[in-house]
Amino acid sequence: MPAPDLGLGIDVGASKIQLGVIDAEGAVLRRAHLSPWHYSKMEDNLANLMDRLDGLMGGYERHRFHDIGVGLPGTVDSVTGVVSYTPNLRWFDLPLGPMLTERTGLGVHLVQDTAAAAWGEYLYGAGQGLKNIACITIGSGVACGMVIGGELYGGARHTAGEIGHLRVADESLVCGCGGRGCLEAGGSGLGLVKIFERNAKALGVEPRRFQDWPEEHPDEQLDQQLYRQPEGQPKDRFNQGPNAHAIFEAAKRGDDLCLKSIAEMVENLALGLSVVATTLAPDALILSGGLSRERELLIEPLMERTRAISYHTVVENVRLAPAALGADAPLVGAAALYLSSEYGGAR
Ligand SMILES: [Zn+2]
Repeated sequence: MPAPDLGLGIDVGASKIQLGVIDAEGAVLRRAHLSPWHYSKMEDNLANLMDRLDGLMGGYERHRFHDIGVGLPGTVDSVTGVVSYTPNLRWFDLPLGPMLTERTGLGVHLVQDTAAAAWGEYLYGAGQGLKNIACITIGSGVACGMVIGGELYGGARHTAGEIGHLRVADESLVCGCGGRGCLEAGGSGLGLVKIFERNAKALGVEPRRFQDWPEEHPDEQLDQQLYRQPEGQPKDRFNQGPNAHAIFEAAKRGDDLCLKSIAEMVENLALGLSVVATTLAPDALILSGGLSRERELLIEPLMERTRAISYHTVVENVRLAPAALGADAPLVGAAALYLSSEYGGAR
């Protein structure tokens, strides 16, 4: 029987679950997606997920597939294949790995989505050919995936890289974890909204001036994440607030308050990134995640500020670069987890 030559990846995002068949060069051959779900409807939705998986695998001989890799936005037990907790989706103790194995007969590796993104960039993206990379995802949250000496680094119980909760920002910014001044509270898309609202309030400006803006933006995925409706809140009320996309668009038109808020976000992120760059001294520090497409207003100034405030002897040898795989990084990286001995693959 020929050796497996195809990867199967699942990227569980806050607004979309993506599935893909990926070849040995990291190219996505086939895709499928479905909406994420709440724990209360778990059975129906797992059935949907399994159907999509069957559809994806249809037409390929089963022996061509390596193990399945899954990237998730939360805490996973990579050994047992159980999703311990995903704060945004509210999945608790879900034995996703064993369920997928039962359906497909394939091994399953679970990992945090940031680690999956780092692995994807290391193998097929901006980290190709390097040994040590840190991949920072900047989206609705902030986190860091690391490849050290050619292997994914998970740390104790695979919890390494939660830099979103480094306390580097203004204490007035409250984080989802309950802490104050977390990097995520001052450096993510949701953090930018908090900064903007605080600055608007200080000036006596009504943030709801954004309510007249169209709700349908081209960037549907980011939008859904930022507009994500908390349970029990009427949709119309939630949709009247600003979101990160709207703030970036207004900044591009020269809105002072938005430009000032983004500059503050950049400063917070630069502090976090300088900690990572100085501690790890990686070959490259790669900037990924939903907001990494904001090159001019976010990524370029962020790379410049990180260099400016970091210990120059270390950081002059660190390549700072935007991600190369874009939104596919976690999907492609998850599909290649069979190459990671840290996450159960046999390499
Ligand atoms: Zn926090």
